[in-house]
Amino acid sequence: MSYISEKVAYLDGLADGLSLKDEGTDKVLRGVIETLGAIAEALEEQDESIDDLSDCVDGIYDELDDIEEALDLEFDGEMDEDDFIEVVCPHCGETVYFDEDMIDSDDGLICPNCNETIEFDIPIDGDEADE
Ligand SMILES: [Zn+2]
Repeated sequence: MSYISEKVAYLDGLADGLSLKDEGTDKVLRGVIETLGAIAEALEEQDESIDDLSDCVDGIYDELDDIEEALDLEFDGEMDEDDFIEVVCPHCGETVYFDEDMIDSDDGLICPNCNETIEFDIPIDGDEADE
């Protein structure tokens, strides 16, 4: 029982001990106490709903963290040429950039530095470019 429900129960007990002579007043008083009881009950239900929601939101945040971690969503400030992807050429070791559309093509990538074909084993997030 919540604090509010306890107060309402206390008022109910007080009203019992009052033995009001005026029936109308007694009725109104009982009605008010009953209404307070209903409000207290509704509040308790809402508290439970809020607790459930908060657990649910916590769960969503945890999952978002996991997803973010999985995707390793860190934007490299130097990569603001939106659709360009940084590739370290396995043949000459040079860092070169390709348009995303070129990566999707079947022709393979030709390194502009050494003219060798680069296979698709590509570090996309630019972690190699620390300097
Ligand atoms: Zn190369």
